Amino acid sequence: MSSALLKTNRRSLLPGGLRKAADLAVNILYPRRCPVCDRPVRPLGALICPECERIPRRVGAERCLRCGRKVPAHMEYCRGCRERRHYFTRGCSAFSYAGIKTSLYRFKYMGRQEYAAWYGQEMTRALAERVRKGGFPRPDLIVPVPLSDKRMRKRGYNQAALLAREVSKRCGIPCLEGALKRVRDTKPLKTEGVLERQENLKRSFLVYGNDVKLKSIMLIDDIYTTGATVDACASALLSAGAVSVTFLTLASGDETKC
Ligand SMILES: [Zn+2]
Ligand SMILES: [Zn+2]
Repeated sequence: MSSALLKTNRRSLLPGGLRKAADLAVNILYPRRCPVCDRPVRPLGALICPECERIPRRVGAERCLRCGRKVPAHMEYCRGCRERRHYFTRGCSAFSYAGIKTSLYRFKYMGRQEYAAWYGQEMTRALAERVRKGGFPRPDLIVPVPLSDKRMRKRGYNQAALLAREVSKRCGIPCLEGALKRVRDTKPLKTEGVLERQENLKRSFLVYGNDVKLKSIMLIDDIYTTGATVDACASALLSAGAVSVTFLTLASGDETKC
């Protein structure tokens, strides 16, 4: 078990006041790093430096009506959504990938799991705004995009599950981590076409149990690019009886860069 997880588990056994004191002590001993500049965050207890908060570019109002990624001002849908049928109904991302690329790299590959708290906060804000404006169904259940057992052993944590827990905690929608399982690792091959990749990916995800039946599911992942992964998960969930599948990601690639 990772030390960060151990710390969380021990703290969760304490009553409220003591937990706050324990959090503060942990913060002094292991200062939380800022997701943008990676320096210890000041003031103590904050999730990000106040001066760094506005730096990463958020996805603005000019976004694809389906997948939510940034599109040129005059467009309603991105090229990917115009050309391909998706299994998900709507998607939403907090940031443009280019603006958060370095931060995301540290989160995924350098063990900066603490970034998940701020990421989750910003994802919840982006989601709340989309739901408020209409056209984005409120989900019944949150499901993170799973990693294969092999990749999980290598990395030690699933970045999508960390984000899903944070979003669930903030918006009160239950999170079911074991609903989907990734049974194969599929690396994109250069010779593979989009449809071929989609077919291969579809066989990579299995649904466990009956919990997704008749539910509106929101998938959570770190990044949305072509939509192939989200679609493969959505297809599996719909086959298992889910009513609809949406997604929420930390970042999405701009259409011009995908
Ligand atoms: Zn900073
Ligand atoms: Zn789109």
